[in-house]
Amino acid sequence: MQEKQKINCTVGSCEYNDMQANSCKLKQIIVTPNQNNHTTTPDESMCSSYKYEQNHQH
Ligand code: SF4
Repeated sequence: MQEKQKINCTVGSCEYNDMQANSCKLKQIIVTPNQNNHTTTPDESMCSSYKYEQNHQH
């Protein structure tokens, strides 16, 4: 059986974000450590697959 990962994401300014479903449209993403950040909280990690959506409405 093939496992299918689902990436939930609410970063609305990202081109790959499906704001209706609050999910990422990519099949896989890269998560990297936030350099020089040792807060022991989730902001130590970041999505490196992020791409700014040029026509994003604020
Ligand atoms: S690429 Fe990263 S930031 Fe963009 S929607 Fe997917 S998980 Fe969110």
